[in-house]
Amino acid sequence: MPLTAGVDEAPATEEAPGAPYGPDAGALRRQDPEIADVLDGEARRQEDSLQLVAAENFTSPAVLAALGSRLANKYAEGYPGRRHHGGCEYADTAERLAVERACALFGADHANVQAHSGSSAVLAAYAALLRPGDTVLAMGLAHGGHLTHGSPVNFSGRWFDFVPYGVDAESGLVDLHQVRALARQHRPRAIVCGSISYPRHLDYAEFRDIADEAGAALIVDAAHPIGLVAGGAAPSPVPYADVVCATTHKVLRGPRGGLLLCGDELAERIDRAVFPFTQGGAQMHTVAAKAVAFREAATPAFRTYAHQVVANARLLAERLAALGFAVTTGGTDTHLITADPAPLGVDGRTARARLAAAGMVVDTCALPYGDGRGIRFGTAAVTTQGMGAAEMEQVAGLFAQALREGAETGAVRAAVRELAGRFPPYGR
Ligand SMILES: *Cc1c(COP(=O)(O)O)cnc(C)c1O
Repeated sequence: MPLTAGVDEAPATEEAPGAPYGPDAGALRRQDPEIADVLDGEARRQEDSLQLVAAENFTSPAVLAALGSRLANKYAEGYPGRRHHGGCEYADTAERLAVERACALFGADHANVQAHSGSSAVLAAYAALLRPGDTVLAMGLAHGGHLTHGSPVNFSGRWFDFVPYGVDAESGLVDLHQVRALARQHRPRAIVCGSISYPRHLDYAEFRDIADEAGAALIVDAAHPIGLVAGGAAPSPVPYADVVCATTHKVLRGPRGGLLLCGDELAERIDRAVFPFTQGGAQMHTVAAKAVAFREAATPAFRTYAHQVVANARLLAERLAALGFAVTTGGTDTHLITADPAPLGVDGRTARARLAAAGMVVDTCALPYGDGRGIRFGTAAVTTQGMGAAEMEQVAGLFAQALREGAETGAVRAAVRELAGRFPPYGR
């Protein structure tokens, strides 16, 4: 066999592993067709079904460009102007812009934009304010608390002594009398205010008052509503909390990542809690993408978006309630709805499966007082696509049709595909 056999077909990278990469959009398809197929399949999935997972959204092409940029190659441990690596001049500018924009957007003294995720932001807040073994008051997991609010399978439940508060059995609203009584009784070092599934505004002023009375720090985990706060469609926790933890990828519509906001007096402690205490090098492509998202979130268009997200969720909740769903708290103030489909004769798991079969993607969620599970969903992504009142009416009807026993799934699936097809998230 001649020595040159097969060389013509070999991909360039195998032939010359040290060769410079050309600007080649087709490189992934040629080099790794398996992963190229995955990415194509996922893009199709996102476009021909309805993304109703409450924590998801469609980032802008500008955010995606920053995420796919060469800042992904850069190591930048430390903070702007005091890095452990050379060559950080552009990384520094990206981070300074992200911090400045976050501070301006939320009216905060200080922002840390390096936390890799919402959970990393919460970990850093605990690291800054608590010691292992401290008592912390947080929403119980069955009532809507996050894993980082004391779950036994998470560092939080292992390292701290969590006391859970909950929602009222009748109204489904946070029981502030209980929160105050527990704070008086247990004298926690910190109170965590925030949830993965609570559809109403939280009373940050009241939580501040309770924390002050108990001598506790107030940590607001605003992972879900922070995007609504940015758009002026939900009250801000910033004036009340010692530290606000958040994500940048939910309603805020940025890259997957975390964010911390605090006053000047805690700035140094929060920064040190992120790096070097809980993380190494920042992901500078993500930091740049966060900067892009903060700039977008400061526009009038984003304010309109945030208000439309809430209007859509309110209407969807109202229509579903009229169709028989037991909507928690009777409605929503936010992008998020939780409901028990039991009155329609299905449990949460069955409902999620039937909705998925029809192309409507939702989560299940804990039901504080009911049996089994409910469903949790939101309007952040479909609103980014441009859907409004007429579409929410249609979605409510499709939910009910999909859940009907022995439903004609094919017909519902076709209607969902037609609806999604009219609102391509990245244009045609
Ligand atoms: C989403 C969420 C988080 C965690 O965010 P990740 O980026 O998934 O780690 C933390 N707390 C609350 C309340 C959340 O909703």
